[in-house]
Amino acid sequence: MFAQIIHKQRVFFKTGQTKDISFRIQQLKILKQAIVDNEAAILDALKSDVNKPLVESYIAEIVLVVKEIEYAIKNIKNWTKPKKKNAPWQFIPASATVYPQPLGVVLIIGAWNFPFQLTIAPLIGAIAAGNCAILKPSEIANHTSNLIAEIVNKYFDSSYLATIEGGVETSKQLLAEKFDHIFFTGGTSVGKIIMEMAAKNLTPVTLELGGKSPCIVDNDIDIEIAARRITWGKFLNAGQACLAPDYLLVHKKIKKNLLSEIQKCLQEFYGENPAKSPDYARIINQKQFDRLVNYLKDLTDLNSRKIIIGGETISNEFYIAPTLIDEVSWEDAIMQEEIFGPILPVIEFTNYQEAIDIVNCHPKPLALYLFSRNKSLQKQVVEETSFGGGCINHTMIHYAAPSLPFGGIGNSGIGSYHGKVSFNTFSHYKSILKKPFILDVKLLYPPYKNKLSLIKRIFG
Ligand code: NAD
Repeated sequence: MFAQIIHKQRVFFKTGQTKDISFRIQQLKILKQAIVDNEAAILDALKSDVNKPLVESYIAEIVLVVKEIEYAIKNIKNWTKPKKKNAPWQFIPASATVYPQPLGVVLIIGAWNFPFQLTIAPLIGAIAAGNCAILKPSEIANHTSNLIAEIVNKYFDSSYLATIEGGVETSKQLLAEKFDHIFFTGGTSVGKIIMEMAAKNLTPVTLELGGKSPCIVDNDIDIEIAARRITWGKFLNAGQACLAPDYLLVHKKIKKNLLSEIQKCLQEFYGENPAKSPDYARIINQKQFDRLVNYLKDLTDLNSRKIIIGGETISNEFYIAPTLIDEVSWEDAIMQEEIFGPILPVIEFTNYQEAIDIVNCHPKPLALYLFSRNKSLQKQVVEETSFGGGCINHTMIHYAAPSLPFGGIGNSGIGSYHGKVSFNTFSHYKSILKKPFILDVKLLYPPYKNKLSLIKRIFG
């Protein structure tokens, strides 16, 4: 069945219709309209799947995607134009041109934590670049997956765009097929499986993965604002964001004050009892809930770890209170993998180099956040550490700028997207050097006898 859909898409791709720029613009407009028409249903599905506060869903799943579509529509004519380049003077007369071309039929596999946006945002790049696409949303957010399938079926022909629903087995069956690109969002260990399967067909991949993203806090900050921005970034969607600060690396001088400001923020955001707050999300399922509860158990068993605030859980709701834990060690289970939940461990440092060394001796994270007014520290952290992207004096918001490529490095991913870079990801840049028939200098052709010294003078 999958092979049949892929075949239909290949046949459609060959008609050349997707290469037409006005066709692509029209499809992007249809996609935008589909989202606008189904906004309430999308928000409902997200509520059922991830129980997110409405505002968080609206901003992170609807607005972000609609803005990305508008940005693509506005810029597509420029992106698709062949670009003239300089030809080496030795080849004169000649012209050099780069032609962006669609790849063909691409596969997009989504994750559950922002289940609409993480599937549709890459699709925008795929459409803008002139491809056919198959979407495989996350089965864990099944209401959103059903709705994506319903919308795509209703607004698009399956020979152009199709959704295939299912879990790991479906994903594996799809990966056994030949695609022209695979765009995957998910965990690092699954990312390795995707790449291995893609390698069998030599299919290029974009891997948008996760990791432990540090948040470094210097002592030269506006503590109230820093605390608010950290609290927001960490506890949005109950910490289930690939970009959430995973742990705090705080300057010893400011730690006590920062932790008490974060506690104040938690009360301001979610009230005395976050379990009653309409603005605080739940953990997605039993498996993730148990994993996070085990971290808490492990930490409370270790008497030296201090729970500053939080630690409460309600198992039948998959509720875990926003939790702040001090004096955590790198040996603790919570520091061994991405937390992906509302627990914020704190580690202190006394000099900047120590903080930079900590970041550099762990796998390259997806994001890094630095809070500091110190310009030379800002420069040093950006230049001396390796990570996907990040913010200075805020958390997460770099994700929402279409002008900034978004993606990881090393264990946190391969390739990037958003804005023009999404278009690049789903395009092949074909280089053509064109010459007329006049002037055929024979210097390059055999026999080479006695030509070397002249070649050295011209090309050397
Ligand atoms: P996941 O890797 O478990 O699943 C992602 C997708 O892969 C799903 O569609 C799933 O069906 C499929 N899948 C799972 N196991 C598979 C296998 N063995 N073979 C083939 N396909 C398989 O990830 P998740 O739990 O949905 O999402 C959480 C992870 O995703 C976190 O690590 C998070 O950091 C990361 N993430 C990254 C980004 C980003 O933009 N970089 C965004 C969101 C989430």
